[in-house]
Amino acid sequence: MILRYICFINLSRMINLILFGKPGSGKGTQAKFVKEKYDLVHISTGDVFRFNISKNTDLGLLAKSYMEKGDLVPDEVTIKMLESEVENFPNAKGFIFDGFPRTTTQAQILDNFLDSKNMSISMTIALDVDEDLLIDRLIKRGKESGRIDDQDRSKIQNRFDEYNNKTAPLINFYKAQNKFFKVNGVGDVDQISNRIFNTIEKKT
Ligand code: AMP
Repeated sequence: MILRYICFINLSRMINLILFGKPGSGKGTQAKFVKEKYDLVHISTGDVFRFNISKNTDLGLLAKSYMEKGDLVPDEVTIKMLESEVENFPNAKGFIFDGFPRTTTQAQILDNFLDSKNMSISMTIALDVDEDLLIDRLIKRGKESGRIDDQDRSKIQNRFDEYNNKTAPLINFYKAQNKFFKVNGVGDVDQISNRIFNTIEKKT
């Protein structure tokens, strides 16, 4: 049995990370390790939507109609939800944003929102994986988890199209701020975590 050894690291200043990448690139898996290592609050907008869907809230009902098709949920809904999630953790040492921002509007509003709290994005780490590999991963995940948006190739393709059209422009948005770092997202889970940890420690 391989034991995962998480060494807790206390960075001297607040770090706010964006985990970036196409659907299935491993953001959620890696966010959990990064959260433990640096004692951060992990906010996954997809998880918050899925939680609301499971509770049949108004937000859940609205989000479901978009998520089922693999479309992005409208910005105004997603941004409001994200801001309230951040405000739930006034004493956080930092945040991992997983699946947010996904549009330029979301990124601009996130910058302004954090600025109003004397906070800022420290870096964006993109998990780089080819689409062919991602399709196999997503279909497998759909079978295991029952996630509807992972089970159908046309919905998966629509999510890639949403990413390529609306989310990929954020690469240049964060490059212009010198905050964009790409990490190879193929390999053992531990290997990928170490690549992320090395990037964080080199750049913060
Ligand atoms: P994820 O779990 O990050 O793959 O997200 C699942 C789905 O939730 C996406 O396909 C979108 O429909 C919705 N979603 C999650 N995050 C966002 C976001 N930042 N903006 C718009 N829609 C989102």
